[in-house]
Amino acid sequence: MEQQRKPLRISDLNEVGRYAVGMHWSDGHESILPLDSLRRHCPCLACRGEVTAELSEDSRRLHQLMRLGDAAVFMAWRDGHETIYTLTQLRALCRCAYCAGEPEKPITGA
Ligand SMILES: [Zn+2]
Ligand SMILES: [Zn+2]
Repeated sequence: MEQQRKPLRISDLNEVGRYAVGMHWSDGHESILPLDSLRRHCPCLACRGEVTAELSEDSRRLHQLMRLGDAAVFMAWRDGHETIYTLTQLRALCRCAYCAGEPEKPITGA
Protein backbone atom coordinates (compact mmCIF):
# COMPACT_ATOMS: atom_id res chain seq x y z
CA MET A 1 0.00 0.00 0.00
CA GLU A 2 1.33 3.34 -0.93
CA GLN A 3 1.91 5.59 2.02
CA GLN A 4 1.37 9.17 1.03
CA ARG A 5 3.27 11.73 3.01
CA LYS A 6 0.81 14.34 4.10
CA PRO A 7 1.88 17.54 5.78
CA LEU A 8 1.35 17.34 9.51
CA ARG A 9 -1.49 19.45 10.82
CA ILE A 10 -2.93 20.36 14.16
CA SER A 11 -6.53 19.30 14.58
CA ASP A 12 -6.96 20.78 18.01
CA LEU A 13 -5.08 23.45 19.93
CA ASN A 14 -5.82 24.66 23.42
CA GLU A 15 -4.31 25.95 26.60
CA VAL A 16 -3.79 23.33 29.28
CA GLY A 17 -4.05 24.96 32.65
CA ARG A 18 -1.95 28.07 32.93
CA TYR A 19 1.42 26.65 32.07
CA ALA A 20 1.09 24.52 28.99
CA VAL A 21 -0.38 24.25 25.52
CA GLY A 22 -1.92 21.04 24.27
CA MET A 23 -2.41 19.94 20.68
CA HIS A 24 -3.76 17.03 18.70
CA TRP A 25 -1.92 16.21 15.49
CA SER A 26 -3.39 14.94 12.27
CA ASP A 27 -1.40 11.72 12.65
CA GLY A 28 -3.14 11.00 15.95
CA HIS A 29 -0.29 12.18 18.15
CA GLU A 30 -0.93 14.41 21.17
CA SER A 31 1.51 16.85 22.66
CA ILE A 32 1.48 18.93 25.79
CA LEU A 33 4.15 21.60 25.63
CA PRO A 34 5.06 23.60 28.73
CA LEU A 35 5.04 27.35 28.13
CA ASP A 36 8.46 27.61 29.72
CA SER A 37 9.87 25.26 27.10
CA LEU A 38 8.05 27.01 24.27
CA ARG A 39 9.41 30.39 25.24
CA ARG A 40 12.92 29.07 25.69
CA HIS A 41 12.87 27.67 22.17
CA CYS A 42 11.32 30.74 20.57
CA PRO A 43 12.62 30.69 16.99
CA CYS A 44 12.43 34.46 16.38
CA LEU A 45 15.52 36.36 15.31
CA ALA A 46 16.08 37.79 18.77
CA CYS A 47 15.84 34.50 20.66
CA ARG A 48 17.10 32.11 17.98
CA GLY A 49 15.62 29.17 19.81
CA GLU A 50 17.95 29.50 22.76
CA VAL A 51 16.69 31.62 25.60
CA THR A 52 18.96 30.94 28.55
CA ALA A 53 18.27 34.03 30.64
CA GLU A 54 15.92 33.73 33.56
CA LEU A 55 12.33 34.17 32.45
CA SER A 56 9.97 36.41 34.32
CA GLU A 57 6.51 35.16 35.15
CA ASP A 58 5.05 37.28 32.34
CA SER A 59 7.52 35.80 29.87
CA ARG A 60 6.08 32.37 30.47
CA ARG A 61 2.42 33.27 30.40
CA LEU A 62 0.33 33.42 27.27
CA HIS A 63 -1.58 36.48 26.29
CA GLN A 64 -2.85 35.06 23.02
CA LEU A 65 -2.79 31.70 21.24
CA MET A 66 -3.85 31.46 17.63
CA ARG A 67 -3.44 29.18 14.66
CA LEU A 68 -2.02 30.78 11.54
CA GLY A 69 -3.51 28.81 8.72
CA ASP A 70 -2.51 25.16 8.62
CA ALA A 71 1.20 25.51 9.05
CA ALA A 72 1.94 27.76 12.01
CA VAL A 73 0.87 28.86 15.47
CA PHE A 74 1.10 32.38 16.80
CA MET A 75 1.72 33.04 20.48
CA ALA A 76 1.72 36.41 22.16
CA TRP A 77 3.25 36.55 25.62
CA ARG A 78 2.26 38.75 28.50
CA ASP A 79 5.57 40.58 28.43
CA GLY A 80 4.83 41.75 24.88
CA HIS A 81 6.98 39.22 23.03
CA GLU A 82 5.51 37.40 20.05
CA THR A 83 6.42 34.00 18.68
CA ILE A 84 5.46 32.24 15.48
CA TYR A 85 6.11 28.52 15.53
CA THR A 86 5.93 26.35 12.48
CA LEU A 87 4.25 23.01 13.14
CA THR A 88 7.55 21.26 12.50
CA GLN A 89 9.19 23.30 15.23
CA LEU A 90 6.35 22.59 17.64
CA ARG A 91 6.44 18.88 16.98
CA ALA A 92 10.18 18.82 17.58
CA LEU A 93 9.55 20.16 21.09
CA CYS A 94 7.29 17.28 22.05
CA ARG A 95 8.82 15.40 24.96
CA CYS A 96 6.17 12.76 25.41
CA ALA A 97 7.23 9.21 26.19
CA TYR A 98 7.01 8.26 22.55
CA CYS A 99 9.05 11.17 21.18
CA ALA A 100 11.53 11.17 24.03
CA GLY A 101 11.95 7.43 23.68
CA GLU A 102 13.60 7.66 20.28
CA PRO A 103 16.94 9.33 20.93
CA GLU A 104 18.44 7.59 17.90
CA LYS A 105 15.90 9.10 15.56
CA PRO A 106 17.76 11.01 12.86
CA ILE A 107 16.95 14.69 13.06
CA THR A 108 17.27 15.29 9.35
CA GLY A 109 14.58 12.82 8.32
CA ALA A 110 14.54 11.52 4.79
ZN1 LIG B 1 11.62 35.30 20.56
ZN1 LIG C 1 5.33 13.26 21.24
